[in-house]
Amino acid sequence: MDAIRSRIAEAIMPMRVVNTHEHAWQSFTTAWAVPFDLPSFFCLGYVAADLSSAGLQRPPDLFDYLVNPACTGGPEQAWETVRPFAEMVRNTTYFRYLLAGMQELFGVSEADIFSDRWQTASAKIRQFSIDTAGCGADLCRRMNVTITIIDSKLAPKDLARTANSEHRILHVARVDDFIIEARGLASTLEQYPARSLDEWLSAFDQRFQEYLNAGVAGFKSGLAYNRPIEYGDPAEGRVATIFRKGILTASPSEKAMFQDFMMNRLCRKCIAAEVPLQIHTGIQAGNWSTLEDARPTALTSLFQRHRDLRVDLFHGGYPWIVQAGIMAKYFPNVHINGCWLNSISACAYKEAFRSWIQTVPLSKIFAWGGDSFPLLEHSYASLLGAKRILADLLAELVHEDYFDFDLAIELARRVLHDNPAAFWRLKSSS
Ligand SMILES: [Zn+2]
Repeated sequence: MDAIRSRIAEAIMPMRVVNTHEHAWQSFTTAWAVPFDLPSFFCLGYVAADLSSAGLQRPPDLFDYLVNPACTGGPEQAWETVRPFAEMVRNTTYFRYLLAGMQELFGVSEADIFSDRWQTASAKIRQFSIDTAGCGADLCRRMNVTITIIDSKLAPKDLARTANSEHRILHVARVDDFIIEARGLASTLEQYPARSLDEWLSAFDQRFQEYLNAGVAGFKSGLAYNRPIEYGDPAEGRVATIFRKGILTASPSEKAMFQDFMMNRLCRKCIAAEVPLQIHTGIQAGNWSTLEDARPTALTSLFQRHRDLRVDLFHGGYPWIVQAGIMAKYFPNVHINGCWLNSISACAYKEAFRSWIQTVPLSKIFAWGGDSFPLLEHSYASLLGAKRILADLLAELVHEDYFDFDLAIELARRVLHDNPAAFWRLKSSS
């Protein structure tokens, strides 16, 4: 078993990768050069949610010293505030996935950060952050990431801000602000005053086209953070009446009908433009969300309705990892993506892939997306973890005689690179 594991790991670790989902666009530019150190490295990541969950109430000015050395407190006060809670989340994957990356990038170990060596460790991290500001392309080369699909949340005119990097980037865009108040509907209505649904739809179509003209390769829906992702198919006339009365003052059920209508509109626009739609399902980042809203099987009627929509189903739908896989099994147009999942739970990632490998065609599984904001260094750590877990799982499957070594390696190459490269219609060189 150990010999198989090492042979598989040796093959996987240097493999090319498509980063299927990323937010850390500032890492590719020099526009954002805020240094980070040990306490901020943790508080800028997903583990911040676990620190809050453990009871940390972070003063809003705790990290002001990073940009303004005149601020009192400094790293000492920050680590004194964060450390007791960091100690309480040492068990969670949000915390643990960062460790291997911290060791490789900064030469800092878990033992260092919880000892009197923490200040030296913090200084090393800070120095790294200063030396490598804007060097996202170099880090991608180190990760052997050939292309990154970026969800920058920028307006069409601002997408070029990510462009000063030789690393290949594809953008996906969000238009959730045309759909729901929690994503900015009120201010988008001010920006595009519309007296009728027709006028609103032409504004929506215009924004969609502006994104295409700016070069986006697909769209992303994050509505699972804000409402249940079950979408009906209301008639346009009914929605037009609701809109004309005033969408912001409509009843909750009328608003939901409008949102359903807009989501279907987005699907149709994606199909017509021949671009994919990435859909968040499963656990939401942060605290206080409604997990049940994000159940992947709630998308069933949407998928039945839009059979030509190319779907990238995110985060393995965790905790509904098996059900999300079955959505990719049922629907020829749906692909299952394990992005971010290995940073949430190493065990869940392994179990998800065990289940998907046994149920989903191997061309329809995507292994990894860093999904970090704002630090690409977190994605570096995440990728190390994902490859190690995949190597463990594939070694187990070969050992159990589920399939042979060669198929295990082909599968790894496909899920890490070739499948997303084909999905995004990349040339074979990338
Ligand atoms: Zn994301």
